[in-house]
Amino acid sequence: MTNREWYERACRSLVGGVNSPVRAWGAVGGTPRFFLRGRGAVLEDAEGREVLDYVCSWGPLILGHACPEVVRAVGEAAGRSTSFGAPCPGEVELAEAVKRRFPSIEKIRFVSSGTEATMTALRLMRGVTGREWIVKFAGNYHGHSDSLLVAAGSGALTFGVPTSPGIPASVAEKTLVLPYNDPEAAEDLFARLGKDIAGVVVEPWAGNMGLVPPAPGFLETLRDLTARHGALLAFDEVITGFRVPEGGVQQRIGLTPDLTCLGKVVGGGMPVGALGGGAELMDRLAPLGPVYQAGTLSGNPVSMACGLATLEVLERPGTYETLEARGRQLEEGLSDAARSAGLPLSVTRLGSVLGLFFSPRVPASLEEVKATRGDLYPAFFHGMMDRGHAFAPSAFEALFVSSAHTEEQIASTVRGAAEVFRTLAPQ
Ligand code: PMP
Repeated sequence: MTNREWYERACRSLVGGVNSPVRAWGAVGGTPRFFLRGRGAVLEDAEGREVLDYVCSWGPLILGHACPEVVRAVGEAAGRSTSFGAPCPGEVELAEAVKRRFPSIEKIRFVSSGTEATMTALRLMRGVTGREWIVKFAGNYHGHSDSLLVAAGSGALTFGVPTSPGIPASVAEKTLVLPYNDPEAAEDLFARLGKDIAGVVVEPWAGNMGLVPPAPGFLETLRDLTARHGALLAFDEVITGFRVPEGGVQQRIGLTPDLTCLGKVVGGGMPVGALGGGAELMDRLAPLGPVYQAGTLSGNPVSMACGLATLEVLERPGTYETLEARGRQLEEGLSDAARSAGLPLSVTRLGSVLGLFFSPRVPASLEEVKATRGDLYPAFFHGMMDRGHAFAPSAFEALFVSSAHTEEQIASTVRGAAEVFRTLAPQ
């Protein structure tokens, strides 16, 4: 069956033919490809065409597809049982591996998605402080729970309006949305409402509006404000966690959040999320504390084995060096190619995660991201896909390099991009 035939068949049974909206290629047009298998950095679609993958399942596959050690660990675990619904050693081992990388984490609760990790962070922040208001930043994405699927309006302080029908206004209005990278806006807000704010949740590098670095002092201001006002600070490191050798952005910049949300790499491609923090705070969750949270498949042995094998391979000497080298090669290659083509392009990078902006400057906020030439992206996407290089089917998504990407593969992507950039550049 062709991709189109699969898609038409899928649309008869799955909403929009997909199980997560952006996979439908609505933002770039065309028919999504259906993939049969992956090996390393290469994916094979239903028509037998191969593409080099820069989506990597939106981040989890830091070792590429079907890494032999990971596949073996998953198979062995599944052979012992796919789920116990009772404690198992894998949960303990993965928790210990996470703690080795994140000194701010003393206790962990595993869940099955990033959405659940941030949702649980919110409940804990509210439950512990006895306050209801949460602060998030425009352009940060923390999953699709009611309190966090809230967009910014204009102005420094916006009372949250839901992004989707079905979210009660009474829930969304408890989420205050601030502009990213604007410490003064955060200071103003805390000066006015600080005593009612339960906590702040932030992506320490924003990975859901392209990849936007934190401005100097921004995260430090959030740490300071929350501490002074008795509120809690949660870093959503679902994307950034394990992407740098230090463990997360928090370690790299030397800032300790109260809570850390993890996902993606920690599960190596199986459904895993995690919430971690200091023992005293985390022990407020059930069964030790009153803040309720649960999950039938949380910490299931197959997911734990997948995450554990991924972290083990990742920690081998040389893996982060490879990730850094390949990330840098792509960053520099794309930047040079765009410059030669006369196309304004800014590339941001945190280890092996990159952001592309069709703009001469790196944007600092959602407003600035929206002002870049995102309209060029569909042509870039299709130009690259036609040449065998798969980028995210939506502008302003981060792109991911794995340790399985070879130097030659990245060089071929850069050559492809050079051709595509020439078609996009102003004549
Ligand atoms: N937080 C961040 C920073 C994310 O990027 C995502 C997903 N891309 C989530 C949370 C939600 O994770 P999930 O899709 O696993 O629910």
